[in-house]
Amino acid sequence: MKKVVLLLLSFLLIFSLDLFTPNYASAASGFVDIPSTHRAYKEISYLKQGNITTSDNPDLFAPDAPMTRAHAAAMIGKAVQLQGTPVNTRFPDVPADHFASGYIEDSVNRGIIFGYKQENGTYLYKPGQQLKRGEMALLISRAFGFQSDTTNAAAQEFMAKGISDGVGKGNFGTELPMKRGDFAVFLARAVNADFREKALQVAATPMYVNVSEDTSLNMRTGPSVDYTEKMKLFSGNPVDVLYTVGDWVYAKVDNITGFIHGYYLSTDQPAISNMKDPIHVTPTPVPGPVTSPISGKKPLNQLTIVIDPGHGGKDPGAAGNGLREKDIVLDISKRMKTYFQGTPINVKLTRETDVFLELSQRVQYAKQNKADLFISVHANAFNGKASGIESFYYSAARNPNVQQSKALSTYIQKRMLEAWNLPDRRVQSKSLYVIRENTMPATLIEVGFIDNAKDAQYIKSAAHRETMAKAVFLGTLDYLYHFEGRSEVSPLYSKYNATPSRKYH
Ligand SMILES: [Zn+2]
Repeated sequence: MKKVVLLLLSFLLIFSLDLFTPNYASAASGFVDIPSTHRAYKEISYLKQGNITTSDNPDLFAPDAPMTRAHAAAMIGKAVQLQGTPVNTRFPDVPADHFASGYIEDSVNRGIIFGYKQENGTYLYKPGQQLKRGEMALLISRAFGFQSDTTNAAAQEFMAKGISDGVGKGNFGTELPMKRGDFAVFLARAVNADFREKALQVAATPMYVNVSEDTSLNMRTGPSVDYTEKMKLFSGNPVDVLYTVGDWVYAKVDNITGFIHGYYLSTDQPAISNMKDPIHVTPTPVPGPVTSPISGKKPLNQLTIVIDPGHGGKDPGAAGNGLREKDIVLDISKRMKTYFQGTPINVKLTRETDVFLELSQRVQYAKQNKADLFISVHANAFNGKASGIESFYYSAARNPNVQQSKALSTYIQKRMLEAWNLPDRRVQSKSLYVIRENTMPATLIEVGFIDNAKDAQYIKSAAHRETMAKAVFLGTLDYLYHFEGRSEVSPLYSKYNATPSRKYH
């Protein structure tokens, strides 16, 4: 009897929230069972916009179904940008092909969630088991870096922060089962303080936007590039950081709150010759692509190529013959950049120095810069005997650019083989993070085997690295010329004593 009353109370409390929540979601929720009249419509729509929701049926959110431990790990993991790539896990009941395997394993690695010890000493995750409210509070507390590390403390902190009012009389209902709709409400409030029932009370940390002076940094409505822009910030602009959500921060600028990628903030104000004021972005319908009078496509000066030198910092990559992959791929990438700088095409590198970047940061960088093409540069190592050049693209139905990525890989591969006289290991499809998770045509090239004596002769030589950089550049032009049908690329070749390649696609 008591349980029924508590459940009813919790339902009523959640139902009353529409009075307080901001008017966030103008778009439809994306789920046929979450109409605009649903009690959790705004929160579910908000999470859906950031691709944070997971469900067994893509059309249904199933708000009254039990919230399972697998979906909790996946949704929390997506919110704080954990590694979601499917992996082998330590749990026999979570195989690599389980939809949440990556999030579950990464959550365990980060101490957010644990398995259940069995009598024989092994652990099970129990992915289909329903969460209790207290467990949910503890998981979210750990993932978002709150102070609490017991269910009761997390429950108290949830109520103090206005993420939940509890179920009455200061009681959180830690033992009550969690439903998916309620979970979405709590997660949305953990992510975005604008949804909470109490004003945020934290000390701000002063930081500064640190990007190159010719670019801007977006403040968005949520912690991913899928969220709407609220403001454009410029290098040197001061930012009051209030809390972090994974790699992003929730911050205030000019009395407006929103999310900024933490990668582009620094504690010291960068030296700026002429600091620009932040620009407030008024929500408008998404504009179509700017069309060029010449070809009906974006003009070349609005194309951006992101080059991604692999590895860096604590991650040297492959090694052999006194060479480190992280050094030589950076060198080749910088030479590539110089070639592109001789054209109207914009070029950006994910790193220009010997720093470590997570794979997710490389993808974020490309998306943030609205890259039209992405080229990740690597060198191989195997057993000292393997030799040759290869290129990878990702082929799966969910990637909208399979044909483009394959063609880009092909045109670059042909030029690389002309540049260095090494075996053709061909263009292949492979599930590699940076080409799988990116949304623009993307390729990953392996210029040769660093531990092979013959390949290393090329890799070692600055003159040969220059011809390799030029080859990748020309291969990219070939792709634009042949595959995208851009005749305006044609005059660019003569500057480099080159002509377009044959047509290969
Ligand atoms: Zn590599």
